[in-house]
This record gives sequence, C-alpha cells and structure tokens, in this order.
Amino acid sequence: MISTSGNMDTINTALISIDPIYSAEYPENIQVCMLRLDKIHRWVSGNKWFKLFLNLEEAQRWGWDTVLSFGGAHSNHLLALASIAMRKGIKAIGVVRGLHGQVKPTQTLQLCTAWGMQLIYADRTQYGDRDYHAELQTRYPNAFLIPEGGANEYGRKGSESIAQWIPAHFSHVCCAVGTGTMFTGLRRALPITTQLLGFAPMKGGKYLAEHIRPYLTPEKDTQWKIWDDWHMGGFGKINALLLQFIQQFEAINHITLDPVYTSKMMIGVNSLIQQGYFPPHARILCIHSGGLR
Ligand SMILES: *Cc1c(COP(=O)(O)O)cnc(C)c1O
Repeated sequence: MISTSGNMDTINTALISIDPIYSAEYPENIQVCMLRLDKIHRWVSGNKWFKLFLNLEEAQRWGWDTVLSFGGAHSNHLLALASIAMRKGIKAIGVVRGLHGQVKPTQTLQLCTAWGMQLIYADRTQYGDRDYHAELQTRYPNAFLIPEGGANEYGRKGSESIAQWIPAHFSHVCCAVGTGTMFTGLRRALPITTQLLGFAPMKGGKYLAEHIRPYLTPEKDTQWKIWDDWHMGGFGKINALLLQFIQQFEAINHITLDPVYTSKMMIGVNSLIQQGYFPPHARILCIHSGGLR
C-alpha cells in the first residue's frame, strides 16, 4: 500500500523564500541566491504548480470534467497533475510514454494511480502522433487536453506569476529548462534589464530557443540565453560527479537539488562564475524549480 499522506495538504506559496548560496569558489563581489519554489508542497513542488493552475481553472470554467495530459514514467508533471486534479475534484487521465510502465509501474505512476489518475500507455510512435491525440479527444470528449509539461499558453501565463517573488535588484535570473514554458513566462514578466539564463539538461538542448522565441513579443525577445553545456551525459543521466555535487551543495547550503534539472543548472552557474562570465557585483538568483519527491 502506497502512502498518499500529505498529498491533500495545501499548496503554500507563502513558504517561498530567497536563500543565500555559499561556495568557497565564488568571488566576493558576486552574490548568489536561490528562489525556493520547491517549498510550496511535498509532491506538487516547484514550477509544475505554476504551469498547471491556470490549465485546471480554465478546464473547470469551460465545464470540462476531466483533464488529460502526457508524460514519461517518471513524470513530475503527471504527478503534479494527478495531485492538483484530486484536490480540485476533477478527473485526470495520464497518457504514459512507452509500454514498459504498464508491466512495472514506477513509484511516480503508482502514486498517480493512488490519487485517482487513470493511466493509458502509449507506445513511442503513438505518443507523439497527432492522429492519436485526435483519437484520444474523440474517446474522451469531456477531457481538456494539456500538452506534455504543461507547455501551452496557460502554462506560460501561469509561469509569469513566478516573477512576483523576484525582487528587481537581481541582475541575473537562472533557471532549468525542459520545455521552456517556465522560461518563457519569466522572460515575459521580468524587467528587460534583468538577464535571464536557461540551462537545458539535455544534449543539443539549445534548440529549445526555437520553442521560446515565437512566444515572446519583439520587445521581450532580448537579454536571454539558453545553455546546454552541462547535461552531464544527457537527460536524466546521473554520474558520480553529479551525486557528489548534490551532496556537497546540501552539506553547505542545506538545500537538496534534484538530479535531473536543478543540480545541472547549479553546475552550469558555478562554471560560468568561474569562467568570469558574470560582471563584478552581479546579483544572481537561481530558481529551485522543484523536482524532488
Ligand atoms: C519540469 C521541470 C523543469 C522544466 O520546466 P519547463 O517549464 O518545462 O522548462 C525544470 N525544473 C524542474 C525541477 C522540473 O521538474
């Protein structure tokens, strides 16, 4: 029996804090802080809440009784959706990429099921196929479809609200990038004098810029950059160096980073600091977008 305790606890944005980050290697004239979006809830941690809350509100407003979305067998997005849908009293369907999870459900999928999400398994060709998506809509006519990762306009709009926790004195804001949804919302909502740096934890992740630019008006399409140099072998890949980094970071800062996104972002930020990328007196805010469970 899986424990679902704590899932129905309130999502508490009042817990969001800005914590100083220490490292013996930082020059004295550079300040590094972390915005703790990971603290809002045990399961719906970080940016997933911001990308989903408007999607759920819209679904309910227009009378859809079900939300349907997509993700892998370890998807934090599906987990967050299951949790939020349960608390809002709306049905949830998760389309899982790959048939493997059906045979051997991951902890994520087990929790999704325990929270009332109906799971459907799609093979890799079906998963990304438009005809299959149309078929799902026909099969579930009351379902509001949310793209993988909450990557739609409601997701981008919801992410804009993260900027209200970012004081104007920060010269640089750094965040991890998966679909680019949070990044796009941030670029739209932050002052254009703030530099926004995105860290993609996958090989060739620079292509994500093409998923971001179309959603920025020309006046907001400035002062941003996507890096993909710190994927550490590829998306979801973990090695001894990464684990050591996470341990050291936790020992010094008492903050746990996740192995997929935020740890690779911090390795990237630290490398840029060492390379002298940031100007003297830079005030850098790194976003802890969650990913822990
Ligand atoms: C999902 C996720 C991201 C990616 O966010 P996008 O809006 O898809 O770019 C970043 N960090 C963490 C911890 C996540 O779980």
